[in-house]
Amino acid sequence: NKTILLASRPKGMPAEDNFQFEESEIPALKDGEVLLKSLYVSVDPYMRGRMSDAKSYVAPYEVGQPVNGGIVAEVVDSKHDKLPKGAVVLGNLPWQQYIVHQGEGLNQVSPDVAPLSYHLGILGMPGLTAYVGLLNIGQPKAGETVVVSGAAGAVGTVVGQIAKIKGCRVVGVAGSDDKVAYLKNELGFDEAINYKTTDDINKAIADACPDGVDIYFDNVGGEISDAVYLSLNKFARIAICGQISYYNNTKPATGMRAEPILLKKSALMKGFIVSDYADEFANAAKELATWVKEGKLQYQETITEGFEQIPTAFLGLFSGENTGKQVVKVAER
Ligand code: NDP
Repeated sequence: NKTILLASRPKGMPAEDNFQFEESEIPALKDGEVLLKSLYVSVDPYMRGRMSDAKSYVAPYEVGQPVNGGIVAEVVDSKHDKLPKGAVVLGNLPWQQYIVHQGEGLNQVSPDVAPLSYHLGILGMPGLTAYVGLLNIGQPKAGETVVVSGAAGAVGTVVGQIAKIKGCRVVGVAGSDDKVAYLKNELGFDEAINYKTTDDINKAIADACPDGVDIYFDNVGGEISDAVYLSLNKFARIAICGQISYYNNTKPATGMRAEPILLKKSALMKGFIVSDYADEFANAAKELATWVKEGKLQYQETITEGFEQIPTAFLGLFSGENTGKQVVKVAER
């Protein structure tokens, strides 16, 4: 039974050697316990924050201890009243092939509603993030212009499509020509910009938003954000969801100050953590599932195969290897 531990804390960009594999025997089940087999493991940008020991909204991983995160797992043996063998659960679980667990905090998911991996993406944390952040902070109205950075990722793809459902003009910023083509041709974005090849990001944003920007859903920060601020309209709303371009910095980022623009444009900038809106999750999940079923929301995943590939898949988030939600399939149900 393999487990992945945090071997050391990264300085700057994380690497494979920050992780360590460990082999162990699966212990016998005691009363009240289940044996889980990991099926799909989520890798997410916020995990980078947990690899360092800086104080944040989730506790750091401990060196020498298992890394953990969102996992869909199957109950393969049970001495638990409520979790029978064959049930499928979603939980915050260690990166481990087989896990002995007491059941607390596990949510049973139905294998019939959607592919199981969707509970880590569109029907899970990233989908909810897109939904609550865009609708609560962005307050999109038909005809408005929405810019989303990190547009081809798990959160960004959902943000842009919900904005289209709400009747907005949507502009995505992403890191490859394939992603740009995908956003425009498959997801119906009105414009998309490859920030890695454009030689003038300020002009590219201004050109793509002839009526200015009403809503900016920010997943990345940095120069992309500065460019969007220059095109803000009066009463613009900015949802600060993620700042991935800074996560591997060893020094605080410096750059343009947004405050004078926020002032002149009476703009609102608000950071949020998805759990701030936990009381909306049930409704949000229902509406997301409906949109998926009706074909109004397209869903894309990058599925890497094999437990050993989890660290590599995680590291790939920082070089944009994924389109849509990055998950790792570690076993068949
Ligand atoms: P993604 O699926 O979007 O994967 C990360 C993507 O970020 C990569 O594919 C890459 O795409 C892009 N990226 C990586 N480095 C940079 C960089 N230096 N500059 C610009 N883009 C970069 O991840 P998620 O959808 O899961 O998360 C998106 C953001 O939302 C993250 O910042 C994350 O931390 C945040 N988040 C926040 C939550 C909250 O509660 N506030 C909850 C969930 C996520 P590309 O090819 O375009 O560069």
